[in-house]
Order: sequence, then C-alpha cells, then structure tokens
Amino acid sequence: MQKSVVIIGGGASGILSSIIFKENGWDVCLLEKGERIGKKLLCTGNGKCNLTNLNVSLDDYNTPFVKDIIQRYSPEVVMKYFESLGLIMRVDDEKRVYPYSESATTILNVLLQKLSQSGVKTICECTAEKIVQKGDMWIVKTSKGDFEADKVVLATGSDATMGTNSHYLYTSLGHRMTKTEYAIAPLLCDDIKGANGVRAKVLATMYIDGEIVMSERGEFLFKDNALSGVLAFRLSSMLARRKGEFKDCKIVIDFLPDYSIEKLKEHIFNYSNVFNPLEGILHKAIAQNVIGRVPMDRSLIMSEQKALNLAKGCKHFEVKVKKVAGRQSAQVMSGGLDTRDFDNITLESKLKKGLYCTGEALDVDGLCGGYNLHWAWASAMACGGKK
Ligand SMILES: Cc1cc2nc3c(=O)[nH]c(=O)nc-3n(C[C@H](O)[C@H](O)[C@H](O)COP(=O)(O)OP(=O)(O)OC[C@H]3O[C@@H](n4cnc5c(N)ncnc54)[C@H](O)[C@@H]3O)c2cc1C
Repeated sequence: MQKSVVIIGGGASGILSSIIFKENGWDVCLLEKGERIGKKLLCTGNGKCNLTNLNVSLDDYNTPFVKDIIQRYSPEVVMKYFESLGLIMRVDDEKRVYPYSESATTILNVLLQKLSQSGVKTICECTAEKIVQKGDMWIVKTSKGDFEADKVVLATGSDATMGTNSHYLYTSLGHRMTKTEYAIAPLLCDDIKGANGVRAKVLATMYIDGEIVMSERGEFLFKDNALSGVLAFRLSSMLARRKGEFKDCKIVIDFLPDYSIEKLKEHIFNYSNVFNPLEGILHKAIAQNVIGRVPMDRSLIMSEQKALNLAKGCKHFEVKVKKVAGRQSAQVMSGGLDTRDFDNITLESKLKKGLYCTGEALDVDGLCGGYNLHWAWASAMACGGKK
C-alpha cells in the first residue's frame, strides 16, 4: 500500500519536501494556514530571493547539527535540483545565489508548477492544531478536519516578520524548545545621530562581554536608532544566539579599513579643510559623528596631534548595542525545537517515530547571505530522502 505523509506548512521547506516525498512515491498532503503557499518566499532577499550561497559551511550556522545534511545537500546539489525545475540562477561577488530574473516570484512559480504536476494535495487556510498518535499512524487535527498519515513533517518555520510559531504541535508531544530570539534584524543603538539613510562600507568588530565574536567587512545602513544593512544583520545573529544573556555588546567600526592610522593621519594633515577636517574622506553625517567624539581644540589650525586623533576616530568608532530589533524587522528566529531530539541525517524525531521537522522550526539559524533558505532546501531533501 502507498505510504502517506502530511506536511504542515507551505513555506520553502514544506513545499520542497512535498515534492521530494512525491518523487519517492509517497501520497503527500500539504497543509498551509495562510490563503496561499510560499508567501514568505516572495519577500526574501528584498524580493530577489537569495536562495543559497556557494560558500555554505558549518561556520555560518549556530549548530554542528547541520553538518551532514549541508555536506550531502550542498549548494551545488540544491542548484542542480532547481535547474532541473527550469530555474536559471546567477551568483554575485559574495557567492550569493539568486534566480537570474532576480525575482522571488520566479523561484516560487517553478516550485508551484512542479507541485501541481506531481499531484501533491495542497490545502490552504488549514491550520494544524494538534497531532495525535493512532497505532502506527498519526492524525493531524486541523481547522478543516482530521488528516491521517504514516508520517508527519513539521515545516512551520517561525513568526519572524510574518507567519506563526507552531512549535507547540511537537512540544505537546514531549519535544523540547530552546530559548528564542529574533535574528537577521537591525541592531538597536543610540550612538550615531543625523545619519539616517547613509550607507558605509566598513570593517566592524563585535565584542560581547569583552570577547570578539565577529570581525567582518561589509556595508552598514545607518538609521536614527539602529545599525541596519547586511553587515548589521550578520552581526545580529551573533548577538541573538546569546539569547539575552550578555552584559555588554559593542561594535568597533573602522570606516577606512584600507588605510593605516599613519597614512590617514598624513592625509588629514595635508588635505584638511578648515570647516570639515574629514572632507573628502567620510560622508558628512558620519564625519560629524566622528569629529564630535575626537578630543581636540576647536581652533582652525590642523596639528599633527589633531590629525592623529581624527585618524584614530575614523578607525575606532565605538557603538554600544542595546539589543536586536524585534519580530517585525527580523528575518529569522534563533532558537526553536531542540535538535538533540532529532536524527541529524533523516530529521526524524528520536522521541516519536514517524514525526519529522524541517527548516526554521528547528533550532537552526544561519547568517544573512542565503544560509537559511539553504537549510530549508537541504533539510527538505534530507527529510524527503532525496537520493
Ligand atoms: C523578509 C525576509 C527576508 C528573507 N530573506 C532571505 C534570503 O534572502 N535568504 C535566506 O536564506 N533566507 C531569507 N529569509 C529567511 C527564510 O525565508 C526562512 O528561513 C525560510 O523561509 C524558512 O523556511 P521554512 O520552510 O522553515 O518556514 P516558512 O518559509 O516560514 O514557512 C512556514 C509555513 O508554515 C505555515 N504554518 C505555520 N504554522 C502552521 C500551522 N499550524 N498549520 C498550517 N500551516 C502553518 C506558515 O503560514 C508558513 O507558510 C528571509 C526571511 C524574511 C522574513
């Protein structure tokens, strides 16, 4: 008799695992709470969908749990699969992979086309409310009635930006949850004024309780009370993973990582403009913040010491971080169902045979750069048993 699986959640990992199970001969039923499937996918990567990254490695994730799965289902395997669905992709300088069209709709459409061709039963506006065991089978109780199957996959993601947390479906069966915090979001801080909307390519070093947790080049987008942009998003994950358990977090910004202090000092000394000693070096709004912090006499005469202090100010600008911004501006949730309760090859529950979990519902979070969708695809392939 044909084996059956109910997949709860029509997001990235739920859609792909439905397709893979179907390819492997299963009778598949995909349940989605919203009025349509793949809604979150459409807003990924600013509408362009950064679907994976050629540099995927263990260092990009919060846990070694992902090791075997990301090795087996590498970016190349994921891209090859999407190619087989008809998707053409492009890779940018940071090895981030996008649909060639740079439109998230394109990737959703190839998935939807495959889903309907393969005959997966998809039921929208159907909220899974409870899962109960009946002999060797599982029953998923929903707002649209009961669905019975040999296997259940929880692919419910998180409520970051949009969506719902449905971890209770498994915690009510004995699964453990780790502490959660939103990640890939702006970092809240009050230290930079008047630079809303300004972007700068910098080297940023994040210290948590005195320890360097990340030092990376990238771009900040300054906001009135926050640091945003890809670099801030990447740093935010390091802070979120502390789950609020830190006393002090600061970021030291080097606005001119390609210049030594000495070289910069010489430049400031030789070219300084009396009204703005950092003219020609930094954006005016950033310059004002740096100058405001540098101890110096306010005379119009540039001295070697003044130039040195300004150079140091440009290369060592400290920002105290209060916390990561909340749900509405977060792309993922750090924390989720405890991975210790799942097999790291098949993603089957170690507590309840026949239950599986994929994607962000698990305590797996990747840095900004395509790593979360990579995990969604790779975990879907692992759970569906892709050869
Ligand atoms: C604005 C934004 C931009 C992002 N950009 C990127 C990016 O460019 N690259 C990247 O790698 N990652 C990105 N991410 C993260 C990425 O989208 C997620 O990590 C990924 O979608 C998780 O996939 P998933 O299948 O686990 O869950 P989701 O895609 O969140 O899907 C879960 C689905 O389950 C449904 N559901 C929940 N509870 C129930 C229930 N009880 N019954 C039925 N259905 C239910 C939800 O409605 C939802 O449709 C972004 C996220 C956001 C919010």
